[in-house]
Amino acid sequence: MQESQLRLLMFLQDLLSLKKEIQDFQVVEQYEEMGFAFDRKERIEESIKEVTEQLDQELYQRFLQIAKKYDRPLAPVKNGVCYGCFVSAPTGSKLVTQNKDIIEFCNHCGRILYRAG
Ligand SMILES: [Zn+2]
Repeated sequence: MQESQLRLLMFLQDLLSLKKEIQDFQVVEQYEEMGFAFDRKERIEESIKEVTEQLDQELYQRFLQIAKKYDRPLAPVKNGVCYGCFVSAPTGSKLVTQNKDIIEFCNHCGRILYRAG
């Protein structure tokens, strides 16, 4: 079954922050001596590639634009409040992907929204 585009975006966001963590991490050199970090980096790169291949290209471009501005391009919405910028009733523009997934964006901060109950 086809993964939903929103799930792919969440996965991508986590992969990118894990990649960043490896880059920032001071102990990386020690790991590299032991031959671990390289393998981890490779796996993350591979997964990023897999995810981006499955993503709607228009959506992926939007994601990249938002990712330039924020570390976490996705934000949860709870009780009608965007947890990226804390504005209520945040839903603004929508993008319907080729797979008919409906992706919503926050009117105020522009982040991609997902429902958190
Ligand atoms: Zn927002």
